[in-house]
Amino acid sequence: MALDDIYKEVILDHYKSPRNKRELAGATFACTANNPLCGDEITVFANVEGGNVTEVTFQGAGCSISQSSASMMTEAVAGKTVEAAKQMAADFRGMMAGEADPSEDVFGDLVALKGVVKYPIRIKCAVLSWDVLQDALNGAGEASGAQPHTVG
Ligand code: ZN
Repeated sequence: MALDDIYKEVILDHYKSPRNKRELAGATFACTANNPLCGDEITVFANVEGGNVTEVTFQGAGCSISQSSASMMTEAVAGKTVEAAKQMAADFRGMMAGEADPSEDVFGDLVALKGVVKYPIRIKCAVLSWDVLQDALNGAGEASGAQPHTVG
């Protein structure tokens, strides 16, 4: 199987069986954003305790790229410190800009999204959930508690 096909399989697997796709009642942070270019919408819920991201979930609708990226993100950042999660968001953005090439050891399934770089119009789809996560961790949704706060 060609690498591209393996990546496609990984993306479709997360799209069909999204991980952590549920509302997180009483989450420390919740944030929503959409990508009008494609019609994607993502809400990210995050629980943060003592500087650690203990749990991340998402809800949303949209294309396979946006939904699978969100699913992969919830797995990738859970258990990390807030700083490490923000760094990962920056690294992911770097990968989607073609400026960074993170190893699979660190990025896991997320490397499957590398192929999206070839389709500039879909990059926003892949980055959307990370933008929402970053907004959430920066406290954009804090004031409203568990009520999703819409940005952008
Ligand atoms: Zn999309």
